[in-house]
Amino acid sequence: MLIDTHCHLDHPRFDNDRADVIARARGAGLHHMITIGCDLKSSRRALDLAKTHTALYATVGIHPHDAQEAMPDHDEALKALSAHPKCVAIGECGLDFYYDNSPRTEQEDVFRRQIRLAHDVALPLVIHVRDAWERFFAILDEEGVPERGGVVHCFTGTQDNADESLKRGLHLSIPGVLTFKNPGDLPEVVKTMPADRFFVETDSPFLAPIPHRGKRNEPSFVVAVAQKVAELRDTTYDAVAAQTTANANAFFRL
Ligand SMILES: [Zn+2]
Ligand SMILES: [Zn+2]
Repeated sequence: MLIDTHCHLDHPRFDNDRADVIARARGAGLHHMITIGCDLKSSRRALDLAKTHTALYATVGIHPHDAQEAMPDHDEALKALSAHPKCVAIGECGLDFYYDNSPRTEQEDVFRRQIRLAHDVALPLVIHVRDAWERFFAILDEEGVPERGGVVHCFTGTQDNADESLKRGLHLSIPGVLTFKNPGDLPEVVKTMPADRFFVETDSPFLAPIPHRGKRNEPSFVVAVAQKVAELRDTTYDAVAAQTTANANAFFRL
C-alpha cells in the first residue's frame, strides 16, 4: 500500500496512456493517487478524473504561476467544485518567487483567497512555496492555518523552513528530489521529521526520481521516494508505506 499525494494526471503528457499509468500505479501497490488542480480548467479535469477512477481523488485550486489568470468569479467556481466528495483539498496554491510567472502581489492575493476558501469549506490546503518562505509564513499567520491544516508539497526547503512549517501544524510532502545528487537539506529533514507528519509524492509528470530521472514521471515511481525515505530513517519500505498511507488517509480523509 502506498499513496501518491501529489500528481498531475490531467496533464496532456498523460493523454495517450492515462489508464495504463493508473493501472501501473495500482500494480506497484498504490491504493490512491491525489491528482492536483492548478487552475480552474485543470481543477475541473482533475475532479472529472477522480469521478471516473476509484483510485483517484482530486484537489481544486490555482497555482501561483497562474495567479494572474484568476478572475474574481473563480473563487465561487472553486467553491462549487470543492463540494464534491472526491475533492479532498484546496490547492495547489501558494507563492513562487523563483519563477515569478505571475506578479507577486497577485500571487499573494490569490493565495490569501484560497486560504480563506479552505477555512470556509473546511478542507486542508495543498501549498506550493518556492523562494518565498518569509512571505508565505507571514501570510499564513495573518490568515490563520485552516482548521484541517495544510501540506507543503514538494518540500525542498531548509531545516529551518521545515521547523517553521511543522511548528504551524503543517505536514511535509517529500518529493523525488530526495533521490537526486544534490538534495540540499532534504535528507536531514527526512531523518528527523515526526513520523506522523509527512507524505510521499511524485509531482508527476515532473521531477522523476532516480533511477527514472530524465523520463516522464508517473505515480508508480513514488515507490523510489518511499525507498529512499526508509533508507534515511533506518527503517523498512513497508513501514514507510504503512505510515505515509495512514498519514495521508487521516489528513485527506480518504
Ligand atoms: Zn507545486
Ligand atoms: Zn503540483
